[in-house]
Amino acid sequence: MASGKRTRKASTERLFDVTDDPVVAWADSVAADETRHAEKTYEDFLRLRKHYATLLRRFEQVTRLSDSIQEDLKLLTDSLYEAARKDPLTGLSNRREMLESLATQIRRAERHNEVFSVVLADIDHFKAVNDQHGHEAGDIVLIHVAHQLEQSVREEDICARWGGEEFLICLPHVALAGATSVAEKLRQRIDTRELSVSGSGIHVTASLGVATYQPGDEIDTLVRIADGAMFEAKRRGRNQVYVMDGR
Ligand code: GH3
Ligand code: MG
Ligand code: MG
Repeated sequence: MASGKRTRKASTERLFDVTDDPVVAWADSVAADETRHAEKTYEDFLRLRKHYATLLRRFEQVTRLSDSIQEDLKLLTDSLYEAARKDPLTGLSNRREMLESLATQIRRAERHNEVFSVVLADIDHFKAVNDQHGHEAGDIVLIHVAHQLEQSVREEDICARWGGEEFLICLPHVALAGATSVAEKLRQRIDTRELSVSGSGIHVTASLGVATYQPGDEIDTLVRIADGAMFEAKRRGRNQVYVMDGR
């Protein structure tokens, strides 16, 4: 009898030490009460108690599984959100995220009479980089330029890969003169000594156009002006910043 009791006790510990469930606590106290061991239904009670503990354990397992599925789901949602808004090659915002940022900037500018500017940067003769050094080298140049841009602007500024070798930078609270000097700083940062890619030296430069928001402007207006200015910078010999006169 004594050894039987020890077995019961040991099995009680193993079954119930995982939870502070009140039913388990009550069942434990009944099981420990020796005056009840002679009761006719005592063995049935023990079986039920064990069954209850097993169900409780399964419930815990399902709950844990559900937690882990929810965590996986959150990770998946985060990566989908990231994938929908970031350019996979450079890690910069993609066109979609930039369009959202520009819409936000325009709303703020309208509501609070704020100013902001954009800079459009296009790598010069980039096709020749691909042709002479290969597409992979071209990709490395794109990553390098993206990094230079990110490093050169403030945290609140937004850099996006706007198209193949075009980057759009949004500068909140910055007027035309400020944006022009930011653009010049970006130009200098890109036009460094030759970039070493797979044993070849590549001299990278870019042409940049600047546009500042004016009341009534839409996203297209602003980008068109920056694009026109960038095109003029190309026409004038590349590796320079251009600002459209009188818009
Ligand atoms: P410009 O100075 O007038 O801007 O000349 P460009 O050669 O830079 O311009 P063009 O529009 O003729 O060529 C752009 C090239 O960019 C062509 C295209 O194959 C390349 N390109 C676009 N996206 C990518 C990319 O993701 N990776 C690489 N390696 N090349 C790309
Ligand atoms: Mg281009
Ligand atoms: Mg180009």
